[in-house]
Amino acid sequence: MKKLIVSLLASAMVLSMAACGNTPASNDDSQGSASGDANQESASGNADGSSNFTTVVEGKLTMATNATFPPYEYVEGGNITGIDAEIAAAIADKLGLELQIDDMQFTAITESIRNGKADIGLAGMTITPDRQEEVDFTVSYTTGIQVIIVTEDSSITSVDDLLADGANHKVGVQLNTTGDMFTTGDIEDAEKGEVIRYDKGADAVQALKTGKVDCVVIDNEPAKAFVAENEGLKILETEYVIEDYAAAMSKDNPELYEAVNTALQELIADGTIQGIIDKYIKAE
Ligand code: GLN
Repeated sequence: MKKLIVSLLASAMVLSMAACGNTPASNDDSQGSASGDANQESASGNADGSSNFTTVVEGKLTMATNATFPPYEYVEGGNITGIDAEIAAAIADKLGLELQIDDMQFTAITESIRNGKADIGLAGMTITPDRQEEVDFTVSYTTGIQVIIVTEDSSITSVDDLLADGANHKVGVQLNTTGDMFTTGDIEDAEKGEVIRYDKGADAVQALKTGKVDCVVIDNEPAKAFVAENEGLKILETEYVIEDYAAAMSKDNPELYEAVNTALQELIADGTIQGIIDKYIKAE
């Protein structure tokens, strides 16, 4: 009986590999090559054996992130920690995988998923139509808000001040984030100021401190962390844009997408995700 279950699982694996391969699995030859590929690709199953999926590295869930975005991902004591790291660990745990976190530039995250180097991108990443052309997003696990950081004595008091006719401010953002996208459209393209792009949000905040920019547009939780670390700065009450954060995944691995998305939905439903968020974000 045991043997039968094992061989059923093995053939289910081969079938699912054949189904996700590039060559049509309509004859014996292509089936053969699909099972041959199985030696190179790794395979893992759900803990209950109910479904099968492949991951970039066998037995591991490889997460791409940019660990400069507290409290979602940041380095502490040499380790990457934060809300997204813990969510990924909970998903990996559910799928019987070991979590591997790869730190990279924010811009490189979707690219590494598309190139088959990472299974999942978790980086306080907002679902946007442009990104949806490149990757699939899971269900959203939380929301973020684009806010404006200014110096305490700033004449900028609301988002309207930045978008007003005749406005001419220097706005710092993190390259390729939604803060960059929105201000590029609303301010730079509208000729209402200049957008200056930095690799890290923290670098934009340093530029604000040294007067190189007049404000920084960034997600609310990292904004709070940066303001707490730097004297003389404040976050304006005004909210620029409200967004949904989700995990980015490959469009070419529907089995893994299904497994991760289901695991995440279960973790949302049973309160695990809220528990992780509450650990890092204290109610005001
Ligand atoms: N939420 C923003 C975005 O998706 C910023 C994310 C980040 O900098 N890690 O663009």
